[in-house]
Amino acid sequence: MKMKKFFAGALLFFAWTATTVAQEMQMPPIPVDKAVRIGKLDNGLTYYIRHNEWPEKVANFYIAQRVGSIQEEEHQRGLAHFLEHMAFNGSEHFKGNDLIEFCRSLGVEFGSDLNAYTSIDQTVYRVCNVPVARLSALDSCMLILKDWSNGLSLEKSEIVKERDVVHNEYRLGDGPSQRMITNSLPKLYPGSKYGVRMPIGLMSVIDNFKPKALRQYYQKWYRPDNQAIIIVGDIDVDHFEQKVKELFGGIKVDPKAPKVVPEEVPDNEEAIYIFEKDKEQQMNQILMFMKHDATKPEEKVNMDYLLEVYVKAVVSNMFNERLRELTNDPDCPFFQAMGDDSQYLLSSTKDAFEVIGIPKEGRDMETLQVMMREALRVAKFGFTATEYERAKADYLSSLEKVYTNRAKITNDQFGNEYRDHFLTNEPIPSVEELYQVMQMLAPNIPVEIINMALPEMISGQDKNLVVMEWAREADGLTYPTEADMRAAVERARAEELTAYVDNVKDEPLISELPTAGTIVSETTDKTFGYKELKLSNGATVLLMPTDYKDDEVQMQAWAWGGKSLYSAPADLQSLKIFDEAIGMSGLGNFSSTELSKALAGKNVNADLSLTDARQYCNAHSTPKDLETMFQMVYLYFTNVAKDEKQYQNLMTQLDMALKNKSLSPDMVYSDSLNNTLYCHNPRYQTPDVKDLPQMNYDRILEIASERFRNASAFTFAFVGKFEEDSIRPLIEQYIAALPTTGEAPEKNRNVMTMAKGEVKNHFTMKAESPKAQAMELWRAEAPYTLQNSVMIDAVGQVLSMIYLKTIREDESAAYSCGASGGFNLRGEKPMLMLQAYCPMNPDKNEIALRLLREGMQNAATSIDPDMVQKVKDYMLKQIDIDSKTNSYWMGVIDKMRTYGVDMHHDYKQAVQAITPESLSKFIREKLLSSGNHVEVVMLPEK
Ligand SMILES: [Zn+2]
Repeated sequence: MKMKKFFAGALLFFAWTATTVAQEMQMPPIPVDKAVRIGKLDNGLTYYIRHNEWPEKVANFYIAQRVGSIQEEEHQRGLAHFLEHMAFNGSEHFKGNDLIEFCRSLGVEFGSDLNAYTSIDQTVYRVCNVPVARLSALDSCMLILKDWSNGLSLEKSEIVKERDVVHNEYRLGDGPSQRMITNSLPKLYPGSKYGVRMPIGLMSVIDNFKPKALRQYYQKWYRPDNQAIIIVGDIDVDHFEQKVKELFGGIKVDPKAPKVVPEEVPDNEEAIYIFEKDKEQQMNQILMFMKHDATKPEEKVNMDYLLEVYVKAVVSNMFNERLRELTNDPDCPFFQAMGDDSQYLLSSTKDAFEVIGIPKEGRDMETLQVMMREALRVAKFGFTATEYERAKADYLSSLEKVYTNRAKITNDQFGNEYRDHFLTNEPIPSVEELYQVMQMLAPNIPVEIINMALPEMISGQDKNLVVMEWAREADGLTYPTEADMRAAVERARAEELTAYVDNVKDEPLISELPTAGTIVSETTDKTFGYKELKLSNGATVLLMPTDYKDDEVQMQAWAWGGKSLYSAPADLQSLKIFDEAIGMSGLGNFSSTELSKALAGKNVNADLSLTDARQYCNAHSTPKDLETMFQMVYLYFTNVAKDEKQYQNLMTQLDMALKNKSLSPDMVYSDSLNNTLYCHNPRYQTPDVKDLPQMNYDRILEIASERFRNASAFTFAFVGKFEEDSIRPLIEQYIAALPTTGEAPEKNRNVMTMAKGEVKNHFTMKAESPKAQAMELWRAEAPYTLQNSVMIDAVGQVLSMIYLKTIREDESAAYSCGASGGFNLRGEKPMLMLQAYCPMNPDKNEIALRLLREGMQNAATSIDPDMVQKVKDYMLKQIDIDSKTNSYWMGVIDKMRTYGVDMHHDYKQAVQAITPESLSKFIREKLLSSGNHVEVVMLPEK
């Protein structure tokens, strides 16, 4: 039976039992959201235009193409992606780099808001967060889309320049994954183009193709009938529909033009076993696929498809919970495993039930056996009613969350939905309609129906089975053969299986409520208008209700002290895993597994963390689950439960991860960077295998209770969607009930050590793929003020532009490079920090290094006024977007209360006051004059 037929049948069954006899096999269609205008021009171009006001006063523009690297011929491998690069290097209305410069002038940054990607079957370009104040600017964005669609210049000189950029991108991505994917794909897709069409392509093609070949590919595939224009934002829909017709209506399509035909994936009669190894691979991975037919785009239009999506979601949820529960046993052969039913790797024409496992050392084949065993157990016995109750509750609560926030769906979300509707016909009902349908449907589907669908996904047979292992290569290791993998699968099939038993703890998180305290005083903050409450136990509470997200309440509680109060060498090691160890512990009477079962269907989270100077308890929830959040916070302060099994798992995992860190160029580099920057201070060194025995779970729990035993030292800030009246009783019941010691709040100590003066560390590293990395850091003490903070941020952004232009665009000495500036507030005195980083092209490392240093030196004397203006525009636009988020206000309140600095009110004036001269002066007098400069460079060993 085809899966599609099954879902149609199941739905009919419900229509029948729930209401009346269904007369015909035709399912009702999924309604299309009426708020989006969809149209198609005569030449085949599709468009989606929607007015949306979140975020306010900006709009997003996209062009999606139904083509990608799968359309390439053998001699064109890499051209689809190369073409995407050329879209930013000259077109009919934007010569040379004008497009990037024009977007910058709108405050739209290349790389984030202006970007594109190429995958195997789609290529999507976007210009996002364009301010809507000037209609002429928006019309220019339409010209950009038009140029991308069919007006690229593809000049020879620009193509020649871009070869290096793409080659550098290849080099940057060259690591164990890229190498093993390239080797595995032809075996994963025998006899299919999917096996030999990674978008990055062949460097032999990239370095040598004739410009004419690129132009031919462009003309052949970039056509209106393969394209969709998507516009979402604070815009006039009629105006843009008219624009689409004007700009794109005249483009002709050759009636004989080749059609995009879906590339099918052949079935495999015999199981496929694949093994790959690589010296830089950190952890082994085992993948198991059971391929089956994908739902075709034209089959995604009726209600049964929504049911199919629902069933897949709950199945993957329940299956993953089982796998997670297995890892609680320290004897489990894997660290982690998970599965779901989705697209088979690259190909939208084939789906697979897929399981991935990360085995513990030497237990690869046992892991594979368990992966197969659990899949077979599910197929044979199905899921239990209690597992399904939790999964259904999870589903319904996330549906509820989306529905609650329906007025604040972002332009990005709509943009992605319309893209998927165009490319793969994913349905686009309105949130209201989806909510209504699924609210009615999901509660009426019993677990039996879910279980009946399982054998369709999980066949367990050799036909269409694909098993693959990626392993770490090292001396002295032995590797499984194909026969070993086959034997592990056979062993699982031969097992006598029993049904899963679901152990659930049926009691409330807190069985006996603590004695409530009271709110003893209350004031209103004059600067930001939030309420400040003093509680009977001495704790301080800040309340700032907002309307930015209808489904979010954030809480942050903090007090001084942090890691700085500990200095014993063993403590320093334990503190390195404090956050993780607490995060995997239980709470109250609940082990971590029991806790996650008890929290099913709730959108809530809380955790503890330590920084150098402070201890934090962070939490968030939906308005609906607020009380559960308060209970978790109460328990984190009073009763973190030891979960020894979980701790052992964490240790095994760390042992595995750290044992091989010397193999990874990235980890070696970051270790050297930390050591140079922080003068080999053990506090700031990333952990090493030899440190593990010093870490101590009991000591971690002891430190947790020391740090969180005195609630009177803490400030609890609440920002988000809540009513003051309804949150007050919760504050009295849980926060005012927290214990205190009566002691005065502690102060943190100064433990920061940083390299002084001019410090250079150059070293070489031998690796499979030669990697070159550079980092420059300038720092200076300075008062923490709004002005200084705005200036250092602007310096970072200007330098980023300079580096992008000189290092990447002019010299092709790196694929990516950049700079960022900010304050480091961890030490005794606030510190300005400016970091420049650059993963370099090893052959051009001298040029890159020279430009890194020169960029800074030159900026200290003069800066291009045009760049400064663009940075200012960007900052002014970004603050309007950021200041509509809860996290922003949490930060603003924190800065004000901790350092007495108002980062909000005069922000725009401070940005407007920036001039090229003031920036240069700032660099000269505030930053470089300190003479503190660190340079860390890693080059490949020759
Ligand atoms: Zn690229």
